[in-house]
Amino acid sequence: MDVCPRIEIDLSKIRANTQVLVDRCKDAGIQVAGVTKVFCAVPQIAKALVEGGVSMLADARLENFEKIAHIPIQKLLLRLPMISQAEKVVSLVDISLNSEIATIKKLSEASIKQRKVHKIILMVDLGDLREGIWSDQILTTIKEITQLEGIQLVGIGTNLTCYGGVIPNPTNLGQLVNLSREIENTFQIRLEIISGGNSSSLYLLERGEMPKAINHLRLGESIVLGRETAFGASISGTYQDAFTLIAEIVELKEKPSVPIGEIGMDAFGNKPVFEDHGIRKRAILAIGRQDVSVNNLIPKDEKISILGASSDHLIIDVTDSAKEYNVGDEVAFDIEYGALLQLMTSEYVYKKIK
Ligand SMILES: *Cc1c(COP(=O)(O)O)cnc(C)c1O
Repeated sequence: MDVCPRIEIDLSKIRANTQVLVDRCKDAGIQVAGVTKVFCAVPQIAKALVEGGVSMLADARLENFEKIAHIPIQKLLLRLPMISQAEKVVSLVDISLNSEIATIKKLSEASIKQRKVHKIILMVDLGDLREGIWSDQILTTIKEITQLEGIQLVGIGTNLTCYGGVIPNPTNLGQLVNLSREIENTFQIRLEIISGGNSSSLYLLERGEMPKAINHLRLGESIVLGRETAFGASISGTYQDAFTLIAEIVELKEKPSVPIGEIGMDAFGNKPVFEDHGIRKRAILAIGRQDVSVNNLIPKDEKISILGASSDHLIIDVTDSAKEYNVGDEVAFDIEYGALLQLMTSEYVYKKIK
């Protein structure tokens, strides 16, 4: 038997999802940066993205770029570089997203030292209030960038639906396009890349509402889970179950649904509330909140419900299931983005690549 708990990763489904998205984007003149951060840039999975046709690999962390350094493809750093890591950024990645001139100056110094040209995409904040320069300060920032050696401004980009939940639309992405024209005219340069966001921008393609000049997207969740993230809809022709969590039953007993005694706090400082459903058949699985936030798990057996979890134990109700569970049996779950991120990061969860 395989090690539990484990996450099973179906490379052929990930490759297929990538192909579908790359093809759809290509039809609209858009190249795809495949985002590897949610799976900690496990090299085999990163390779599946490359085989699926992405034109670059993108991640937020330099440790992850070290893992995929041997894969010959352009690398894009998604999180704004730390000044303290400028040297490493230049040596490990080809392009980085930026919004701070102080950092860009350090990248310039590092590039000169390493006899390289580091490419940057300047981020514009269109209202989501995560990273990016306010649009009225873009031209002055670019003026400074053009005076730096070792730095090539290859484009501008934006990030939406991350902090503020702002949905990309023809208006806000149109502002990005207009800004790119203004920059090209003012500085007599050509911007190769107009990066129109992440998986939340995909719905615009489907509706035919993506501004034409947008030619680059950075896609993570849509590739790994087959879902766009503006409205949470599944993407036609993709798999939603490339990743599956398997955990093992360590206790199976009939117990009341309401604890007995005075109720104080649970292991996480919350006061739990219970409804009385009588005696229920409950299973404890050997996985817990140290590995995953359990509200992002969906049991494959629809008759199972999740009751709760502590650090190392996940308690489920199997009373209504058609299957006769036993101690030692495995229970499978579909996973959402938050859970995938944690499970891939937990060293206690075995990664089984198929
Ligand atoms: C994580 C990230 C992405 C990918 O987002 P998904 O919703 O997973 O497609 C794109 N751009 C930036 C800057 C990111 O940090």
